[in-house]
Amino acid sequence: MFNSKFSSTCTICPFNCNVDRVENFGICKLPKKILVSRVQQHFFEEPMISGEDLKDGLGGSGAIFFTGCNGRCVFCQNYKISDPLFWGKKINLETSEEKFLEICLNLINEKKVHNINFVSPTPYSNLLCKFLNKYKSQIKVPIIWNSNGYEKVETLKKLDGLVDVYLPDFKYFDNQIALQYSKFINYFQFASEAVKEMYKQVGWLKLNQNNFITNGLIIRHLVLPGHTEDSKKILDWIKKEFGEKAYIALMAQYYPTYKAANFPEINRKLSKKEYAEISDYFADLDFADGLIQDLESADPMYTPEF
Ligand code: SF4
Repeated sequence: MFNSKFSSTCTICPFNCNVDRVENFGICKLPKKILVSRVQQHFFEEPMISGEDLKDGLGGSGAIFFTGCNGRCVFCQNYKISDPLFWGKKINLETSEEKFLEICLNLINEKKVHNINFVSPTPYSNLLCKFLNKYKSQIKVPIIWNSNGYEKVETLKKLDGLVDVYLPDFKYFDNQIALQYSKFINYFQFASEAVKEMYKQVGWLKLNQNNFITNGLIIRHLVLPGHTEDSKKILDWIKKEFGEKAYIALMAQYYPTYKAANFPEINRKLSKKEYAEISDYFADLDFADGLIQDLESADPMYTPEF
């Protein structure tokens, strides 16, 4: 069982619930213990994370999907593990530190993954910090922090030197849109400060001789249908803040799922026109490098089956 030496009330993320997660629940409704919903090799992350060749079923990114989330995105593709309403005993695998280490080592030694990819780790930050302080030296591949960006700088500072790769999805420029679709409050202020802290810790991406990432920051951004103007503002901010060396992975994988049907304006995929518009805008900003997903990525087949 994990025990935390951190404050007994939870102020990990910007919601600052201030509840003792042993006895009460905050907004994320997660207890003070690690719950893992799924462990798998992931072959559909960025090429420097997943690799492009599957050899004998080995390789890929070692994805560990944590149960729950501090966000409530109405279009969440992982809603079966992020929304407490869908949690069942089968997908809430409580893990001890030893068991969690075993999961990581099994991915590395048996599945030959290129990295350990913590998916939606934010509510578990303190416990993972404690775990990594104890066991990082045994994990010989990069640790990836794959989050929604709604994080506090003071929490991220505790991960300095423990996380090798930050992979935040920097979702919204407009706080109203963030509130409407994800229930985030002041999203941009928190996410922009979080991204700056991440950059301070790891810089831009560095690759090994096989073109796999060893450390660095990749800023993801998921383009929503009908909201290309917000996406442009995010791209503009990144260019202004970091210059041409910023590394962005622009994601076009949105498809309507979960509660998106309640919001007609996002109850569809990106159109070809929108995709062309945002692709051109991204290209015109002249970043030195970066990635853009093709429209075919907007398919449930690329989402793990939870
Ligand atoms: S991690 Fe959960 S309980 Fe803690 S502050 Fe965030 S939403 Fe609240």
